[in-house]
Amino acid sequence: MGKIIDGKKVAQDIKFEIKNFIDKRKQQGLRLPKIVSILVGNDEGSIYYINSQEKVATSLGVEFNKLLLDKDIKEEDLIEKIKKLNNDNNVDGIIIQLPLPSKLNEKRIINTILPSKDIDCLTFINQGKLYCGDKVFLPCTPNSVITLLEKYNVELEGKNVVVIGRSNIVGKPVAQLLVNKNATVTICHSKTKNLKEICKRADILVVAIGKAKFIDKEYVNENSIILDVGTSSLDGKITGDVDLENIINEISMITPVPGGVGALTTTLLIKNSCEALEYNENENFNS
Ligand code: NAP
Repeated sequence: MGKIIDGKKVAQDIKFEIKNFIDKRKQQGLRLPKIVSILVGNDEGSIYYINSQEKVATSLGVEFNKLLLDKDIKEEDLIEKIKKLNNDNNVDGIIIQLPLPSKLNEKRIINTILPSKDIDCLTFINQGKLYCGDKVFLPCTPNSVITLLEKYNVELEGKNVVVIGRSNIVGKPVAQLLVNKNATVTICHSKTKNLKEICKRADILVVAIGKAKFIDKEYVNENSIILDVGTSSLDGKITGDVDLENIINEISMITPVPGGVGALTTTLLIKNSCEALEYNENENFNS
């Protein structure tokens, strides 16, 4: 039977590291990290995310302010608010909940965030650094995939990794992080031919499609290590892209949904705010 990769356990370990960092700073009388998360309008998914981010941050001693803005806010007013946060030395991380209302220019707004406070790696500058292999705050979902593989001692160098999905927030950055770790990466998408054969040959399969239980026995082999990023609602339950129950005996390791990749993302975001505080104190973000 394949081994279950426990995202909750890994999240607990990282929370422990964050708590140590916070406790040390408290003992030294130093300032604690502060995140401001901006929500424009009342998208249900975004409200869920901002509340869970707040819960994790405050439980670890990281200050978390929600900036709740009307969906009809003018673009210039939102830009001004972000610039104010950029100039506030007590703010370490700025998050914008996506999607923004369609009348707002999402790219312009995101790229107003100072890269040194862009803890979710959404600005073009930080994404460029990521693609150049420079040090940068790693985007949380792709970083969750890498962190889980590393915590479970999965060697990446020279491994044949297949990523299904090429979105800017998951597929492409996770593929780039894997290349940065010396894996040999194939990116697949909806136009890929022979998807089953390509996946079956992979040592590691990262699935970020958004189609419940899409991956079955025909896509895997007995040594497959599978990272399931997908989250869809099926019969009222959050379900991954992989049909875990029916392939668990045919593979080597897999992340469950829930309790896998998604269990770690918020914790990694909070960890980035601690790094941002250190970067900003030492003013070495661009070095
Ligand atoms: P997305 O922007 O919709 O991208 C989906 C990708 O899957 C696209 O590249 C698409 O190909 C590809 N695809 C769709 N159907 C396919 C098929 N039949 N065969 C092969 N490829 C196919 O989604 P996303 O934002 O990357 O998110 C992917 C999933 O991850 C979603 O379920 C989302 O909810 C979940 N997610 C989870 C977390 C977490 O923390 N757990 C975070 C973010 C996202 P084309 O490019 O050709 O259209």
